Amino acid sequence: MLIQAAPLTRTLVAMLTAAGATPKNAQICADHLVTANLKGHDSHGVGMVPSYIHGIRAGKVFPNAHPRIAKDSGAVLLIDGQFGLGQVVAKETMKIALDRVRTTGVVCVGLRNATHIGRIGSYGEQCADAGFVSTHYVNVVGHGPLVVPHGGRAARMVTNPYCCVVPRPDGNHIALDMATSNVAAGKVRVAHMKGVPMPAGNLVDADGNPTNNPAVLYTEPRGALMPFGTYKGYGLMVMCELLGGGLAGNWTMRPEQNRDYGTTINNMLSIIIDPDAFGGRDAFEDEVTGMIHYLRTTPPADGYTEVLVPGDPERRTMALRREQGIDIDDNSWKSIEDAAAKVGIEQAEFAALAAA
Ligand code: NAD
Repeated sequence: MLIQAAPLTRTLVAMLTAAGATPKNAQICADHLVTANLKGHDSHGVGMVPSYIHGIRAGKVFPNAHPRIAKDSGAVLLIDGQFGLGQVVAKETMKIALDRVRTTGVVCVGLRNATHIGRIGSYGEQCADAGFVSTHYVNVVGHGPLVVPHGGRAARMVTNPYCCVVPRPDGNHIALDMATSNVAAGKVRVAHMKGVPMPAGNLVDADGNPTNNPAVLYTEPRGALMPFGTYKGYGLMVMCELLGGGLAGNWTMRPEQNRDYGTTINNMLSIIIDPDAFGGRDAFEDEVTGMIHYLRTTPPADGYTEVLVPGDPERRTMALRREQGIDIDDNSWKSIEDAAAKVGIEQAEFAALAAA
C-alpha cells in the first residue's frame, strides 16, 4: 500500500481524535509517526498507532495529559509525563527545557512516566532547530525485557535508544539516533509482518541460540534481540538504562522495580547545550562544517560509493518518500484499519480518509 504523507496524517489524526485525544495532541502524535515513516524508520511510524489506541482504550495512556514539573533546580529539571501520549509530553518537555537553556546555557532534564515517545531523533531535532546541541539517554520499561546482555542467554533490558544531535544552520543537522540493540524491535515487527527473515546477528531464540526468524519475538517461549557492537554497544545500553531509567525515571528493568504497565513506558535523560556558553556559535559551526567536509571527502572503501554522516540516510529517504509516498505492508495497514474500527471509524470512512 503506497500512501502520501498528507492522507496518512489525516487518517491518524481522525483515529486518535476518535480515541479521545484533542485535535492538537492527535496532530502532534500523527505528525511524529508519519515523519518517522518519511525518514525510513517504519519501526517507529504509523504501525505503532494500534498499540497507542489499545493503550488509550485500556486506560493506560492518557491522551490529553501534559507534563508536570516535579522538581525545578534551575538548570536541572525533573518532569513527570503523567502517562500522557509520549510524543506530546516529550515535545512539551523539550519546549520547557529550551525555554530554560537560553538563560542557563545548559539544561539537564529528566522525563519520567511517558508512554512510548517514538523516534528519539525528533526531540534532538527539536533542540537543533532552536540552535542547541542535545544528547538523550532513554530506557524502555512497562513490560518484560527483550534484549540479551553481551555474553548472556536471557533478556535483561529493552532496546534503550541513544541520540545526539548537532545543529546546522541549514537544518541538515548531524543526527545520531539509534537503538542500542542491533536493530530496533519495530524492525523485527516489520519483518514479521512482511514474513521475511531477519539478517544474522540480530536475534536469539528462547534458548539463547542465534536465529533469523522474526517470529521468535512474537511466539512463546520468546526469543530476544542482541545488543549492537558486542560489549561496547551493550555498555551504552546499560548507560541508557542507568541514566534514562535509573536517574530520570527511577524505573529500571530490574524485577523488583519493573511492573507490567500494559503499554510501553519511556524514561529519558536529556542534556541540552547552548554553543554560545562555550567558545561561541560561530567557532563551533566553523569546526563542524570543516570536520563534516573532511569526513564526507574520505575515499570510499570497497563496496561503498561515498562516506555519509549520521542523519544523511534519513534525509535521503525523506526526500524520496515525500515524492513517491510511503509503502506500508498489508498486515500493518490491516491492523491500523482494525484499530480505526475499534474507535468507530468504519471501513468506508477509513478508505475516504486514506484516499489521496
Ligand atoms: P538505524 O540503525 O537505521 O540508524 C542509526 C543511526 O545511524 C542514524 O542516526 C543514522 O543516520 C545513522 N546511519 C545509518 N547509516 C549510516 C551511514 N552509512 N553512515 C553514517 N551514519 C549512518 O536506526 P535504529 O537503531 O534502527 O533506530 C530506529 C529508530 O528507533 C530511532 O529513531 C530510535 O530513536 C527509535 N527507537 C525508539 C525506542 C523507544 O523506546 N522509543 C526504542 C528503540 C529505538
